Amino acid sequence: MTWYYRVFLIILICLKISISNAWAQFTLTNFNNYYSYINCIISNEKILQVNNIQFTSIIIETNEKINEEIKVEIFTENGKPLFLISKFFDNENNREYKYSTGLHSFNKTLNGIKINFGNFEGQVKISFIYSPKHNLSKDLKLYKFNNPCDKPLMISYNEWRKGLPDPKPPREKTKVEHLVIHHSAGSNSDTDYINTVRNIYLLHTQSNGWDDIGYNFLIAPDGTIFNGRDPIGAGDDDEILGAHFCSKNQNTMGICIMGNYMNQKPTDEALFSLKYLLAWKLKKAKIDANGKTLHPKSTGSLLENICGHRNGCSTSCPGDSLYSELNKIRSEAARIADSCGLILDVYNFKLTPKIFLFPNPSDGKVYFNTANIEANSELQIFDISAKLIKNIKLQSQSVTELNMPKGLYFYKVLTNMSVFESDFFIIK
Ligand SMILES: [Zn+2]
Repeated sequence: MTWYYRVFLIILICLKISISNAWAQFTLTNFNNYYSYINCIISNEKILQVNNIQFTSIIIETNEKINEEIKVEIFTENGKPLFLISKFFDNENNREYKYSTGLHSFNKTLNGIKINFGNFEGQVKISFIYSPKHNLSKDLKLYKFNNPCDKPLMISYNEWRKGLPDPKPPREKTKVEHLVIHHSAGSNSDTDYINTVRNIYLLHTQSNGWDDIGYNFLIAPDGTIFNGRDPIGAGDDDEILGAHFCSKNQNTMGICIMGNYMNQKPTDEALFSLKYLLAWKLKKAKIDANGKTLHPKSTGSLLENICGHRNGCSTSCPGDSLYSELNKIRSEAARIADSCGLILDVYNFKLTPKIFLFPNPSDGKVYFNTANIEANSELQIFDISAKLIKNIKLQSQSVTELNMPKGLYFYKVLTNMSVFESDFFIIK
């Protein structure tokens, strides 16, 4: 190989390295002391470096669904790089972008970041949150447990919010019928939970522009419960309208399990606190843990009283692993509530006449108008000796015609909810 050919080859290699390492172009927007962000398009330049910035958490968001991991390199004060591998998941809380890495909080203030986007191409938004450090007052322990029938002990907003901007009034009260479970979709490696809650609060208030943190309660992996939304004098914290259920927040209470539970199971400690918090609320609001109620109230469809975010909104929240625990959570919360003396009304919602029988008495033909009945409900007809003589699957939105011999009959309607309506009718 001739010398000039070698030089040419070396130049070519250097050129290739410099192309693959080129910095992506971006503009950093400083919204305020707590929140700054970058909107940029990642194409040929895969590495983005930001210096001279102060932040305690980061979230990267996009509308391009990618499965591969991105490598995030973070510079700390002592120059030691910290690696964080992150994947994109369904974003939480109706943000502008559909997918995100979740909010990753750090135990200390960081001042630089280098992100390697690998094969990723497309538009991203990188949000930086800065929460000034707050240490829990000395007399407060994080996780505490009291009488299982009382309201669980929790860290109040007055404590965790110290030094941060106040939430904005006014507050609205709501009659809670649904207890909605979320995950924060954030990192599972955060260990300074009070710091994580502060960062979530700042994300919701500064970046989302909400009046307060969206959830009524948050539960850390060590079982610590945090008060969420501040009632600001409007009532109890569990009855305050939140921002967590795709604009259908009326009659709901939101509980967020901190962390990402798509592939990882929640800790026993977090589940323990969740069950006792649910049981307390079931008893207080007389909610049937295994029941369903219309949501939105009166116009919506039946929704489990204890449900996941995904049951009412287009999201994978609270993650596959936490979602698969919901049946167990429901029955255990019900058991605790029962043992604490929960007495439910016979049924949790009013039996409005859904079936309409006419004429009554009749000369032979009788009609059942089932316009308001759920599909696959059953109509059972009994004679005077209580013998079942007909069992008919009802079609919703229709009128069912029956020809009956003379006599007195009873009918019963069984819906998916096992709620029945019964009455009698006479064929003359
Ligand atoms: Zn959610």
